[in-house]
Amino acid sequence: MIERYRKQILFDGVGEEGQQRLLNSRVALVGCGALGSVIAQTIVRAGFGFVRLIDRDFVDLSNLQRQVLYDESDVEQRLPKVVAAAVKLTAINSEIEIEPVLADVSFENIIDLTKDVDLIIDGTDNFEVRFLINDAAVETGTPWIHAGCVGSHGQVMTIIPGETPCLRCLMPEIPDPGSAETCDTAGVLASAIQVVASLQVVDAIKLLTGQKELISQSLTIVDVWDGSLRKLDISKLNESQTCPCCSQGDRVWLEGERGSQTSILCGRNSVQISPSTKMSLPFAELQERLEQMGEVKNNSFLLIFKPKESDHEITIFQNGRAIIGGTEDLSEARQLYARYLGY
Ligand SMILES: [Zn+2]
Repeated sequence: MIERYRKQILFDGVGEEGQQRLLNSRVALVGCGALGSVIAQTIVRAGFGFVRLIDRDFVDLSNLQRQVLYDESDVEQRLPKVVAAAVKLTAINSEIEIEPVLADVSFENIIDLTKDVDLIIDGTDNFEVRFLINDAAVETGTPWIHAGCVGSHGQVMTIIPGETPCLRCLMPEIPDPGSAETCDTAGVLASAIQVVASLQVVDAIKLLTGQKELISQSLTIVDVWDGSLRKLDISKLNESQTCPCCSQGDRVWLEGERGSQTSILCGRNSVQISPSTKMSLPFAELQERLEQMGEVKNNSFLLIFKPKESDHEITIFQNGRAIIGGTEDLSEARQLYARYLGY
């Protein structure tokens, strides 16, 4: 069992005791897209004992440029990312317990999804979810590793609640829509993602082998295009104890006061709609109804509906959550949702 980790054990920073700790560790990975698939593959190979994969999306052709866990057959089958990822990861290392969760992380489920793990790793692509993770992590005292990547650059920040600054110490509010670069406007290089995800995994190994003193209180900024790596000291960020979250106890994201039911999916020309009440209509009945208005495919995890004479494609999950393809216009997406799903 230990043989497969021999090269990692030989490395001084891990050793046999460290490896044993990794094998006993439990991690929640939020987001199985670009960062998430590199992280998942690396930590499963490294022998992190339990990995909960959380993602809301299915595999799309435009993912394959950087999302290393997926291939063309996953695109063809429209598999949810967590389902495709679990199959690949189990084939890589069958000793690891993988728990795929097909869900949109929200204030209603984040505590349940993260309360029994030692570490949360950020594989997401949006600040709403990151602020929600930050609230939950600070609330439960669970360390988390934030990262983001756009173009050729990215950033990593590891947060140990109560000991290091949190994400809201760094940025009290999420960037205004349109003010920050996104993968949609600036694209993203797979190489940048691999470097950033690898830095996240290194901090995860330090934390889970019991070496949190090795985590630097810094924001690491990498650019693979110019080959630079900078570490900005953030140890004094919250010296005056003004952080709304970790100093003043504000949990607006976790309490559901912030965050939206509708969001544009980065790089996908798609909008996600999460209804506030769960769909009660059985899938089979919904399929029958939709078949009168267009073409429907069902892969047992989701329904893919193409309305007649329309360029849109609507992917519907069991609880009524839908991804409307072919638009980035929120009101158009809501209209389509209302027209076909009747909310
Ligand atoms: Zn803070």
